[in-house]
Amino acid sequence: MNKINEECGVFGVFNCENAAELTYYGLHALQHRGQQGCGICTTDGADFYRERGEGLVIEIFNEKNLAKLKGNCAIGHVRYTTIDGEGKDNVQPFLFRHHTGDFSMAHNGNLVNSRQLRMSLEAQGSIFQTSSDTEILAHLVKMNRRKDRIDAIGEALTMIEGAYAFLILTQDKMYVCRDKNGLRPISIGKLNGGYIISSETCAFEVVGANFVRDVDPGEMIIFEKDKEPESILFSGEFAHKMCAMEFVYFARPDSDIEGVNVHTFRKKCGKYLAQLAHVEADIVIGVPDSSISGAIGYAEESGIPYEIGLIKNKYIGRTFIQPSQELREKGVRLKLSPVRSLISGKRVVLLDDSIVRGTTSMHIVRMLKDAGAKEVHVRICCPPMRHPCFYGVDTSTYDELINAQLDVEEVRKMIEADSLFYLPEEYLLKVGNRKELCLACYNGKYPTHLYQSKIDFNVEHKF
Ligand code: SF4
Repeated sequence: MNKINEECGVFGVFNCENAAELTYYGLHALQHRGQQGCGICTTDGADFYRERGEGLVIEIFNEKNLAKLKGNCAIGHVRYTTIDGEGKDNVQPFLFRHHTGDFSMAHNGNLVNSRQLRMSLEAQGSIFQTSSDTEILAHLVKMNRRKDRIDAIGEALTMIEGAYAFLILTQDKMYVCRDKNGLRPISIGKLNGGYIISSETCAFEVVGANFVRDVDPGEMIIFEKDKEPESILFSGEFAHKMCAMEFVYFARPDSDIEGVNVHTFRKKCGKYLAQLAHVEADIVIGVPDSSISGAIGYAEESGIPYEIGLIKNKYIGRTFIQPSQELREKGVRLKLSPVRSLISGKRVVLLDDSIVRGTTSMHIVRMLKDAGAKEVHVRICCPPMRHPCFYGVDTSTYDELINAQLDVEEVRKMIEADSLFYLPEEYLLKVGNRKELCLACYNGKYPTHLYQSKIDFNVEHKF
């Protein structure tokens, strides 16, 4: 694991014709958020129809199985497998059958108190079919004996803690819920007379929807046919602690997160890096894809020309699964190639979004030097990642993070760069024109309690 991975993306359609087809295209736009499994569940008001599997959206869905997904309402999910485990059983959306009404759920994020809740629910008689956090919310909703479903969901949401954007689909309603810290993005769009819900706004463009607004932290929005959407704040406390890595790395550059375009954010990071860590150089390049915007910003600010010095092989993808040892060592070269004629004899500024283990950065620096670069100066668009993430990103231990083991100069030596500079955390706030962000993987200040959880972590002795 040389790069961090987001766990999931969710997409919903309420009251639009061809809901399954729209969800299929929406999930395509969110594919970067998870490539290991995907699913769609629809309802026509009478029953639910579901298709899911392990693989890319294009591998799981076809005209034939999409045609079976009837109805004007749908929820969809793409996932990256980390904590929850592999297997089709863990692929969402989940579908729950219950005498009070069937419902389907999809979730992006991670709960930090899931272990405690699961044990408590099992002690009360619940039997879980999956290792997913999503199922916990379903049990909490159904354990609540209140008749009103909105109250039951609202109460269940106050019991879970962590990062989440939940979509819940019943035969006649859709509930969209976001955690009280607003750690994961989720937005609402409008299409004809209906609504589209998406983890990222880039999916609105694909299906032709118009952005309406983001779901607020601690908010539940209820969609019901022939009614205006109803908004309920289920939490008395809330904060705007969006995951900084959504801006820096996860989200697509054409998405807007809480009013800020992701490309523009990254470009400004590059501009600040040029101001804070200028170096005499001949060209600026970025590691594709997420660091291109930062490289453009650095080049504009510094006056050093931007070049496409690295080309990404987009077609390796999941076919590159079992390489031989020799090929594994050359893995970076299979994914990225230097443009030798542009690099040779040049002093290069290399923009990258982040450093996790450091091995990818080292291979890229070596590759550029092998291609004839005289110097390689690495500029990172975020602070050093020194702490694990417990909110749905697959850095769950300190051992995985080179910056938790070494100081900046030691990392520079390890990656064989001529200089190394990280963007300080206050600049992430400045760039986004925000007072708050989750910056916990840089500074260890987690926005929620950390429970002794299913994640094998060693936080205690680090504080
Ligand atoms: S700890 Fe880091 S990766 Fe995790 S939510 Fe916070 S900013 Fe994002």
